[in-house]
Amino acid sequence: MTTSPEEVGAPELDARTWLDALRSAADATTGPATLEWAAAEVIHQVCAAAGWPVGRLLSVAAGRVAPTEVWHLSDRDRYESLRTVGDAGAQGARLAERAVALGEPVWTGDLAEVGPVSAEASRAGLCGAVAFPVRDQGDRNGGAVVAVVECFAERPDRPSSDVFTMAAAAVGQLGRIVDRDRAAAASDEAVLMAEVAHDAFIALDEHGRIVEWNPEAEAVFGWARREAVGQPLVDVAVPARHRQIYEEHLAAVLAGDSTPLVPRRELVAIRRSGVEFPVQVTVWTNGNNGSRRVCGFVRDLSERKRFEGQLASQALHDRLTGLPNRVLLRDRVEHALARAGRRGASVALLIADIDRFKLINESLGHDGGDRLLVAVGLRLTELLRPGDTVARMGGDEFALLCEDVGGYHEAVGIASRVVGAFEKPFEVQGADLSVTASVGVAVGALAGPAPELLLRDADVAMYRAKDGGRDRFEVFDETMLADATSRLSVENDLRRGIAQGQLRLYYQPIVHIDTGAIAGFEALVRWQHPERGLLPPVEFITSAEETGLIVPLGRYVLEEACREAATWADMQAGGERLRVSVNVSAKQLAQPGWSDEVAQVLAESGLAPRQLVLEITESVLMDDTDTTAVRLEELRRLGVRIAIDDFGTGYSSLGYLRRLPVDILKIDKSFIDGVAEGPHESALARAVVKLASTLRLEAVAEGISTRKQLLQLRRLRCPYGQGYYFSRPQPPAAIPGLLHLGALEGVDPGQ
Ligand code: C2E
Ligand code: MG
Ligand code: MG
Repeated sequence: MTTSPEEVGAPELDARTWLDALRSAADATTGPATLEWAAAEVIHQVCAAAGWPVGRLLSVAAGRVAPTEVWHLSDRDRYESLRTVGDAGAQGARLAERAVALGEPVWTGDLAEVGPVSAEASRAGLCGAVAFPVRDQGDRNGGAVVAVVECFAERPDRPSSDVFTMAAAAVGQLGRIVDRDRAAAASDEAVLMAEVAHDAFIALDEHGRIVEWNPEAEAVFGWARREAVGQPLVDVAVPARHRQIYEEHLAAVLAGDSTPLVPRRELVAIRRSGVEFPVQVTVWTNGNNGSRRVCGFVRDLSERKRFEGQLASQALHDRLTGLPNRVLLRDRVEHALARAGRRGASVALLIADIDRFKLINESLGHDGGDRLLVAVGLRLTELLRPGDTVARMGGDEFALLCEDVGGYHEAVGIASRVVGAFEKPFEVQGADLSVTASVGVAVGALAGPAPELLLRDADVAMYRAKDGGRDRFEVFDETMLADATSRLSVENDLRRGIAQGQLRLYYQPIVHIDTGAIAGFEALVRWQHPERGLLPPVEFITSAEETGLIVPLGRYVLEEACREAATWADMQAGGERLRVSVNVSAKQLAQPGWSDEVAQVLAESGLAPRQLVLEITESVLMDDTDTTAVRLEELRRLGVRIAIDDFGTGYSSLGYLRRLPVDILKIDKSFIDGVAEGPHESALARAVVKLASTLRLEAVAEGISTRKQLLQLRRLRCPYGQGYYFSRPQPPAAIPGLLHLGALEGVDPGQ
């Protein structure tokens, strides 16, 4: 098609509208619908998108164009007369014939070309028409034109070629079903339709009695053909309560004062068994006065509805436990708060988190962990009243929503029942498993109407319960929020502090216990806060870990410590290479590629891998053995040493010591404190030193602060020590002086 000058200034094509029209056209022509039904839909879409007020379908058989009853009238009153005239025939429809002959869309500004309807069209204010051929897509020999869609325009100028292309594409979709429908037109339409349809096909006479009832209709409704035919459809398939409306509709369709094609609708039907079910109905009429029929496809939607229901339920429930998930809980909290607001009652939200679940999961295997979660879900459900909700928030976290709670005291009562519910062991894989939970409680009235706030408050309280030693509950109060908020401000400050170079490393010597000679230093981070002065790690490490800032912080510490330690090479006494110990947090260790980072830092600093000790606290090693083991192996291959920090503070079995590549045990200060006080108090330290030597690990006694302790540790044959007795952590500038002293034994700075 060439671009005509009229196109200049034509309004721009609205691509989205046309895409929607194309989609609807494809949709309408993929189902089992008739050509008439699909054409009505497609013409409606095309006319709406192009702004054409009237459209119609013409059928083509043996090259001859014939009218059909399919019309689209955007304004019934204004254009109804076209349809009436159209019924008289389409002889002289030259535009349509041209489209058939050319096999492509054609436009005319001369309405005489459209045949008998032209006079009516001009009278109604129409000025031009376009005809689109529909090619038979089932025809292998080139696709004969089997129908024409003709649309009328109010403007005398030719539509743009874009509009032509889009409209032609939409109309072309009809070719898919032409093949089938052409055959139907050739013989008794209803019978053929009944055979080709995938859906139940039903035809009614003008009294609403069934004349056609295909095998699908038998299957769907449960009535055999011979039973159904002759019966009024209303007695066979319509639930009693819809009788009246059905009869009104049928009368309207038969009277023809409804559009002949009723677009797809969803209704309720009834089976022979009396069971109601959802259906989608597509209705049209055919035949003329005296033999008018109402035909319809009925699709049983029960399966689809069930599936949709399943999908919705899957999206809102946790797969493992079947409990509502976070999304559904949030919704319920929202409704509960709204109801509580109206009634002046309270809502309690509890969040229960299983203590040390990771550990359990690892020792039982994931399957065992899953079973435990299911069992916990069940037990919590039993605990509550029927209207309350137990949800799984993800992982090992559950939420309990209780409505109509009398207030604070009742909420406390529920919380203590929840903690108590964990007293009885859970049976998992045939064994009794004892677990505890930490529970946070928030009461609705305090939080106000936003569900997020209530969830946040319960969460804050739950973390407080964890911090407070687990196996307990905490009720949210405002001071907790203040704490959480101050943590937030620490986070912001710290982020800035890291970026602006406010971190400092201090170094504490680690000595040979026998000689007091320095074997290395542990790097300990400090924060030179612009307002608060030099801050120790207790003030910021936890929030750095919670916020993930520990990753850039740790990176800085590692780089700085390695860089610093590389400068000690010239100063070391006795030919021994000084080590530097760096504390590593779980988050760093969990980073994929972290070992590569360590290798890179070592290479850049020039420090030998054997000089670097990475200190990892015992709880980290117990919590996530799988990834930890992998990471430690990688580090071991680099040649760095691994130390277990604060050894003895965990609760673990010692099995992991055998499995993991560990070189050094740092005995926690709490074991060292009492070491000089008698055989009873020193028993544990003695045992750990012994354990280390059995496993061929180096032991470092942490926090030695008196000479007595030192002497006792010498007696126990602990090889290394660290503590204020030798030296407090020192800034880097003090290191040459310490090294110059040679041995630190007996030096007692400030104790
Ligand atoms: P830690 O790794 O167990 O470090 C030993 C802590 O014990 C240091 O506290 C040290 O100053 C203190 N200490 C040493 N000897 C004595 C003693 O004789 N008496 C007493 N009362 N304390 C002694 P600091 O520097 O406050 O560090 C505390 C913790 O912060 C460290 O425990 C470590 O877990 C963490 N930390 C420090 N720097 C870093 C770091 O760069 N990264 C990470 N992830 N954690 C760090
Ligand atoms: Mg340490
Ligand atoms: Mg320690």
